[in-house]
Amino acid sequence: MKLFNSMTRTKEEFVPITPGEVKMYSCGPTVYNYFHVGNARPFIIFDLLRRYFEYRGYRVKFVQNFTDIDDKVINKANDEGVSYDVIADRYIKEYFTDAEGLGIRPATYHPRATETMDAILDIVQRLLDKGHAYIAENGDVYFRTGTFPEYGKLSHQPLEDLQAGARISVGELKEDPMDFAVWKAAKPGEPAWDTPWGTKGRPGWHIECSAMANKYLGATIDIHSGGLDLTFPHHENEIAQSECANGCTFANYWLHNGFLTIDNQKMSKSAGNFFMVRDAAKEFGYETIRMFMLSAHYRTPLNYSAESLKMNKTSLERLYESRNNLEFRISKAAGDTMTAEESAKLEALGQHRIHFIEAMDDDLNTADALSSVFELVRDVNAYMGANQDATKAFLSGAHALLMELTGVLGLVQQRTEENIDTEIEELIAQRAAAKKNKDFAEADRIREYLLNEKGVVIKDTRQGTQWSRV
Ligand code: AMP
Ligand code: ZN
Repeated sequence: MKLFNSMTRTKEEFVPITPGEVKMYSCGPTVYNYFHVGNARPFIIFDLLRRYFEYRGYRVKFVQNFTDIDDKVINKANDEGVSYDVIADRYIKEYFTDAEGLGIRPATYHPRATETMDAILDIVQRLLDKGHAYIAENGDVYFRTGTFPEYGKLSHQPLEDLQAGARISVGELKEDPMDFAVWKAAKPGEPAWDTPWGTKGRPGWHIECSAMANKYLGATIDIHSGGLDLTFPHHENEIAQSECANGCTFANYWLHNGFLTIDNQKMSKSAGNFFMVRDAAKEFGYETIRMFMLSAHYRTPLNYSAESLKMNKTSLERLYESRNNLEFRISKAAGDTMTAEESAKLEALGQHRIHFIEAMDDDLNTADALSSVFELVRDVNAYMGANQDATKAFLSGAHALLMELTGVLGLVQQRTEENIDTEIEELIAQRAAAKKNKDFAEADRIREYLLNEKGVVIKDTRQGTQWSRV
């Protein structure tokens, strides 16, 4: 499997540190609000990467943090006159509501900064001990960037260029303008933690990721991921801290998703051009948003528009329709063994799995992987249409393949109450009886009633009446 590594700027074959296991860390949300569709992109993509690794037989340890203490969380808490943890608890809960809707599985670990204080204090202390960090006059702790000559290697900017662009301002507490805070001294009224070095305060943002990756996955991890905007300074700073504290490579592969844009501008809270996931979901459905994210390669920019969402909704409906048709036919079909022709057909359908895997192995080419799924659906629909007496065995095989591939993508797994609604089944049976008795007026009345009162459309097929909700 090949992945594009931002560190080397090439597609590289993925080789795990421990055979059969993947240790991956992805930067998670700052929990002071609901998350927007732009934030959803890395959450969906790296959930997909995790699912795909599992599909290919890897055990995956996946960590995604919650930044539950920072200026934004504190400001929001002050605005509402509550403690910071009330805000964090609320938006962590809301994160899981939206994530579940989007088919994002919970990570193996979801550490919060404030619950990882032991590991954070430990890494800051190690940086101080080794001279990679220093305590400023006001009690802040800064990373001494000059002690890490490789600084800039991820964003491919030499340290000298970065230094030339930075200026030290009057009253600056830092030794060098490129130094950055790993620990922030307590300001009056702010939540603060005691430290071994004596200055009460709270962690900087970058150090929390270094500490958590180290605590849950070890000193060297396989994959570190996040949005493109995190490359510099966030990931560069994580690398500096982790590699100086541990004396080894921090992450073997760095993956960055491209921006989700709107009118071709990056969607962001600060620019105000964003849609919260839950608002977009009200209009198009959560799963449509996932489908939309997978419709493009994760590294390319992806533009959000109502037309694009609508198109993806239609595509998703096609997948559901194919699944539902298969399930209906399975419920009516007989035959526990396939005919020779069916066996050959099912084997031919397996080609779509091969193409799907080829696409996903090529740096997660979800657009091509989805094309394979649609080709599968097209072939299955055509075969089912032409072979009204297809066996249950064949139909079940085709269904299993469709569910396997869509399952890897985290799509088409939803169930409605369709199969369990006895009242509707009862009405359909009454309509069938009316038709048999040539009472077409009654049959039509039931059809109208189902549509208007139950929101159910019915379709007569050779195997009987199939129904679905509008
Ligand atoms: P934040 O909560 O702002 O730290 O962002 C959480 C994640 O969303 C990070 O991985 C960001 O890089 C990512 N992100 C934020 N805005 C966008 C966007 N418009 N497109 C893609 N990723 C984004
Ligand atoms: Zn991070």
